Amino acid sequence: MTQTPATNDIKFMDRNPPAFSEDEARTMARDLFGLEGAFRSLESERDQNFHITGDKGDYVLKIANAEEDPGVIDFQTQALLHIEDRDPELVVPRVVKSLDGNVTETVADADGMDHLVRVVTFLPGTLLEDSTLDQPLLHEVGATVARLDRALTGFMHAHAENPHPWDIMRAGDMRPHTKHIDDATARRNIETILDHFIDDVGPRMRRLRHQVVHNDATHNNVVVDGTGESRTIGVIDFGDMVFAPLLCELAMAVDTLMPYVDDPIGAMCDVAAGFDTVITLEEDEVDLLFDAIMTRFAVTSVIIAWRRAVTPEQPDYLREYEEPGQRLIAKLLDIGVDAARARLRHHLRFPPYCPPEEDPTLDDNLDALLARRYDVLGKHLTIFYERPVHMVKGQGPWLFDARGKRYVDAYNNVPIVGHAHPHVVRALTRQARTLNTHTRYIYESVIEYAERLTATLPDHLTACTFVNSGSEANDIAWRMATMVTGKRGAIIMSDAYHGITEAIAHLSPEGTKEERAPHVRELMAPDTYRGPYFAGEENLAKRYAADADRAIAELDEAGYGTACFMVDTSFVNHGVIDVPEGYPRLVAEKVKAAGGLIIADEVQFGFGRPGTHMWGLDVHGIEADFVTLGKPIGNGMAIGAVITRRDILKAFGDATGLFSTFGGNPVACAAGNAVLDVIEQEELMESARVTGEHLRAGLRDLMQRHTLIGDVRGYGLMAGVEIVGDRQTKEPAPDDMKQVLNRMKDLGVLAGREGILGNVIKIRPPLAFKREHADILVDAMDQALSEMAS
Ligand code: PMP
Repeated sequence: MTQTPATNDIKFMDRNPPAFSEDEARTMARDLFGLEGAFRSLESERDQNFHITGDKGDYVLKIANAEEDPGVIDFQTQALLHIEDRDPELVVPRVVKSLDGNVTETVADADGMDHLVRVVTFLPGTLLEDSTLDQPLLHEVGATVARLDRALTGFMHAHAENPHPWDIMRAGDMRPHTKHIDDATARRNIETILDHFIDDVGPRMRRLRHQVVHNDATHNNVVVDGTGESRTIGVIDFGDMVFAPLLCELAMAVDTLMPYVDDPIGAMCDVAAGFDTVITLEEDEVDLLFDAIMTRFAVTSVIIAWRRAVTPEQPDYLREYEEPGQRLIAKLLDIGVDAARARLRHHLRFPPYCPPEEDPTLDDNLDALLARRYDVLGKHLTIFYERPVHMVKGQGPWLFDARGKRYVDAYNNVPIVGHAHPHVVRALTRQARTLNTHTRYIYESVIEYAERLTATLPDHLTACTFVNSGSEANDIAWRMATMVTGKRGAIIMSDAYHGITEAIAHLSPEGTKEERAPHVRELMAPDTYRGPYFAGEENLAKRYAADADRAIAELDEAGYGTACFMVDTSFVNHGVIDVPEGYPRLVAEKVKAAGGLIIADEVQFGFGRPGTHMWGLDVHGIEADFVTLGKPIGNGMAIGAVITRRDILKAFGDATGLFSTFGGNPVACAAGNAVLDVIEQEELMESARVTGEHLRAGLRDLMQRHTLIGDVRGYGLMAGVEIVGDRQTKEPAPDDMKQVLNRMKDLGVLAGREGILGNVIKIRPPLAFKREHADILVDAMDQALSEMAS
């Protein structure tokens, strides 16, 4: 892979600057550019430069090497003119035209060789190498360099892609020359870095965004002028410009500063943060910055040693950087890319790193995070899996852990259209960049969203109120129901879950050890697998619904009356049971007849998951007075909604002045609208239907072969697999179920646990989960069950 250097590469070894006398230079400046004043020679490798201090200001007269390609000089001149046009305030040298109006003139030396001569303005101030490198300055340097690159965006030149030894993308060319490095340890370190560049870093950097970059904004090419508010940062010396990854610019701006600070990674973070304020850094750029800097150190080290070897007769070149550079390389290798990248990501508020491919050797930091979590969040919250998973990334139906292992997500209904769906992410970030405020002002997205939601619901449900969660939505619906009916009793399903507010906690007995509230009655689950009435028997719906008569009578007797029946239309809590057709409608009718209202909790089932319909209430044919929405509504943005009859909202609003600060904020509504777009455009409802049927067919097929599966159920893209020890007795096998779930996780598939007996595998994926993902799930479950049987 190592490339051999082109002959062009070693041109930089040749350093014979022109040798005009000061008098000759004065004559040129006066005759060609009309400039006079005090002359001071400036150091240069290949050219001859003079600082002119005169009445008209400070200038630099630049006499090019006779061998210089005029095109290369033109590249610099055009770039400076481009920058001046795009960002006139940016502090860079300005091109000064000659008396004849040209940007360059030609002079001949004593040998008759022609040299191009030009003048640019001189930037006053102190070089960065002589400044105190504190955090504000580092930040400003980063921002200035990014501003320079922003000004250079769109600029191109025929010479921009000339091979250039300081172009770190050509670091591979340096590999054969490491032999010139005397110190064996330093040589080995540098070879490691260059090999890593050739094999990994270089190919990845080639995929980054490219443009013409200054490529040399180092500590001796950045000029600081003034102090405090009026301080300006300028950049000089455009001789190393090249078309390269933008990242190279940032790497160059950081690396020469590193030897002068106590905390080089901190300096990297500060410069990068400044850069990021002007040009938003991309994730791959952030992840490759440390490696790019290491490559630059390696290139510098090789060039110094190589030059010394090739031109021993010449004075040592950059010798003073060699040893400190090598020491720093050792120090940075010691810190390592993982730690440096983690710190930079954290500094820029990027989420934790996810390797592009699975790397089981990476430290997933799980134990340390668990300890910290227990400390501040307590242990009450159940964490899934024997060995919990540290998730760092989601994409469509996939989740990725900190080692880059990917899992098919068959559990999460919140990202209904898929994790990090680009349309939703773009919509909400664009809105967040523009405006986010509360609903006391007028903005269109909340209106549009409410119109779109109500358009999908029955005609009488036209009034929308936005809140921030499913719990809040149910809480508001419950308050409305009690206010409108004047009654205080609630009917819910046994082991229901509807949320966390005080009122709703009473309506959420699932998993609680608390005594049941006196105003709440639970209906027996219409579970046709566990009874008391079984699939295949007559009048199932009617027989189960009769329990509502009991509940209504009890509430009346206790003096509460029935304010509402709150029902999760998915019946997921009971183990994704197959509800007898007509059951929810019958219960709803009984409750209505008793003067109660119907709250259809669509937090689980809504937004197309049923496949045949958008909402569970349509599947069951319930005439609801309230629809409550949560979880999937914003694909992860916190938003909830109550949609009800206009008269109910009016009565409640008039009485309470209902208002939720963040409910329906512009960012949440941007996400909500985008979720609806995706459901429509990607035809996710139909996909849920097709995928759900395919999934259950696969699961039923497994049931033929694995006796541990007692039943397969579900509707749309929701499925339950009941795990039993014995099919005859239906003895629940929750421990076996856990084993299956844990093994499936190891095999890269995430499902959940459900059911009153804790023995049902719940499959409730994002709607981005398609047939191929269902097949992966079925295969993993097959393997897990087979291993347990053997
Ligand atoms: N209703 C149902 C049916 C739910 O499943 C949940 C949450 N699991 C809620 C309401 C409460 O939603 P949230 O956690 O957003 O408050």
